[in-house]
Amino acid sequence: MGLFSGKKGLIFGVANKNSIAWGIAQALHAEGAELGFSYAGEVLKKRVEPLAESIGSRFVEECDVTSDEAIDVLFDKAAQHFGKLDFLVHSIAYAPSEELGGRFINTTRNGFRIALDVSCYSLIALAKRAQPLMTDGGAMLTMTYYGAEKVTPNYNVMGVAKAALEATVRYLAWDLGKDRIRVNAISAGPIKTLAASGVSGFRKSLSYVGQVAPMGNVDQEDVGHAAAFLLSDRAARITGEILYVDGGYNIMGAPDPSLMGGESKEE
Ligand code: NAD
Repeated sequence: MGLFSGKKGLIFGVANKNSIAWGIAQALHAEGAELGFSYAGEVLKKRVEPLAESIGSRFVEECDVTSDEAIDVLFDKAAQHFGKLDFLVHSIAYAPSEELGGRFINTTRNGFRIALDVSCYSLIALAKRAQPLMTDGGAMLTMTYYGAEKVTPNYNVMGVAKAALEATVRYLAWDLGKDRIRVNAISAGPIKTLAASGVSGFRKSLSYVGQVAPMGNVDQEDVGHAAAFLLSDRAARITGEILYVDGGYNIMGAPDPSLMGGESKEE
């Protein structure tokens, strides 16, 4: 008997085996959850289908979250397949690559619109369709990054989208509390994935965080375990929270302790 025996949920955002959403899926599967997957486009189908199959999932459907019609179709199918839902994982973000580098002041109106639509509004759109299916209450989880709070060069408009996403988590948590639905986010440290490699200088920031964070870099498995906790009944009444899974990077005041008279980790 796992923590998720008898529980069913949908996972949005698996692109390949390196996706954070796949780390979360594996942790939920290990605890007995029944999972459904949604992927962004035809190209990803051949990657996501075998992964879903490997953990016995029979629900794998395409859905572009910028389309309300596509989301409606997806949730109609989910309602037919699962009857009810216990949890939802939103692990989706996108901004045009030219927005993820260089000067922030060059952010375009269209780049801003796309980043906020795909990376933030989509959580509201999915929550609206999932809520009526969470008839016994439920839990929703999204993925954010420290660039929402503190300037992270090159993250640019995505930092603004994540700030909006974190506020959205709090407003949804407030609104859905009456339906016994919890809404939380994990703020993960940098992890090498498809989305991350779109941010200029990502490899440098991965290596930097690895050196500065008290516990070094995190991986998909670390996030998966924390996600399983937040989505489980063990986290009953934890809602509207942003949980750092970042090796402790966010507690550091000095960018490099050696610059402040301390010792670097490796010394
Ligand atoms: P990933 O590329 O594996 O996942 C991003 C997913 O978003 C992909 O599956 C992609 O298909 C999906 N997506 C993009 N546009 C979409 C659309 N229009 N409709 C439906 N799906 C769409 O990368 P990841 O790093 O696993 O990203 C997952 C989440 O984790 C993102 O929100 C990301 O910002 C967040 N995050 C990542 C890191 C990191 O360093 N990798 C750190 C903190 C937070």
